[in-house]
Amino acid sequence: MKLDVLRPGWDQLQEEGIVNAEGARLFRSDGSSLLDAAGQFGVNAIGFGRKDIADVIAETIWKRSHLSPTLQCPERIALAEVLKQKWLHPNLDRVHFVNSGSEANEAAIRLARHYHYLRGKRTKWKIISREYSYHGTTMGALSMTTNAFRRKGLEPYLAEMPVVPSCYCAEGESENSVNKALDALRATIESHGADSIAAMIVEPIGASSSGATASPPEYWQEVEELCRQHDILLISDEVVTGFGRTGSRMGYDQAGFVPDIISMAKGLTGGYGALGAVSGRGEIFEVLEAGGLPLFYHTLGGNPPACAAAFENLKVIEEENLLDRVDDMGSRLGELLRPLRFQKGVKDVRGVGMLWAVEVEPLPGLDIKPSALIVKKGIEKGVFYWPGGVSEDHNIICFAPPFTVSEEDLIRMVVVLEDVISELY
Ligand code: PLP
Repeated sequence: MKLDVLRPGWDQLQEEGIVNAEGARLFRSDGSSLLDAAGQFGVNAIGFGRKDIADVIAETIWKRSHLSPTLQCPERIALAEVLKQKWLHPNLDRVHFVNSGSEANEAAIRLARHYHYLRGKRTKWKIISREYSYHGTTMGALSMTTNAFRRKGLEPYLAEMPVVPSCYCAEGESENSVNKALDALRATIESHGADSIAAMIVEPIGASSSGATASPPEYWQEVEELCRQHDILLISDEVVTGFGRTGSRMGYDQAGFVPDIISMAKGLTGGYGALGAVSGRGEIFEVLEAGGLPLFYHTLGGNPPACAAAFENLKVIEEENLLDRVDDMGSRLGELLRPLRFQKGVKDVRGVGMLWAVEVEPLPGLDIKPSALIVKKGIEKGVFYWPGGVSEDHNIICFAPPFTVSEEDLIRMVVVLEDVISELY
């Protein structure tokens, strides 16, 4: 049986697959390898092949392969505790486990909507999202995602949500961009009416859709303030930015705001298990409890082996000081990538921590997006890249390697991209 629908660029890997992985490397059955510059799309934090983690997961499977989310178990309790003690802002003191980032964002929508609904604010349902955002594939998450290609044909199932500009500031344009973005946000709240808006969802640093876009702290302070003023909950989508990817514990720490609700996945287990989570202020959960409205359980959500995987993954990040390593190697990655800015075909290079992006120009006359062609050629030359962007004309190559990647491997990832771009442009 054939798998999935083949995507250009990756189709060449579908037949043979990857049989092994170690550190930042993927191995095919013939022994040849690919360097994973994508970190499997922002998932891999501590590197592939940690046998000690596999042993803990195996032991957990043996003891408690699965327990319904209606029961408690040591793995869930321990993970919730470590999130509270070490990773999340003290305001975020409740957590609910699901299976993926999309499900975490679905749960965030429910939390926000039910919180207002049960407080008698029944007209508050809309969620403001930002241009160039991506929040997942499920219909609620997709309703908050402004990517026409991903939404195509599914419009009847998607709610119409207000969209505001994101606030990426090119060098020297900070003040102007911040003012423009904030004016648009104020105008949107005004025109829709704060009494129709339940929440605003943001990626604190945009990931592959926008291409590692950061905004200045003064923008975030005002976003936070506007949300508070209008009783709009601020949701931070930490699916990519959480757990050290940007060099801070969470993306909102890096950006400089405090959210009411956050969604998490990817770096939570670093790929050693399938797990997502939503966390929020205790008061929000308490309103749901008092009103008798549950957060819907996903049968496999918070599966004990996945929680054990997350616990171990986070332990490695702590014990091996990988946040410091993200700072060091992330700066090195930036130094290596920045000169590409002057290469023909490159529009911009930007990033923070271990999340960087190279935006390339459109290439007219091709029947494949340039980003997909770069992925294809990268695979031929032994590097696996993460393509992004929200339209035919918006082409991003995102870098999100594991925090443990060596400098030598970073150099190779950048040199191959440089080669591929000079072949194409
Ligand atoms: N949010 C962001 C910012 C993402 O980048 C993604 C996936 O790439 C998601 C949500 C959806 O997560 P998942 O693919 O685990 O459903």
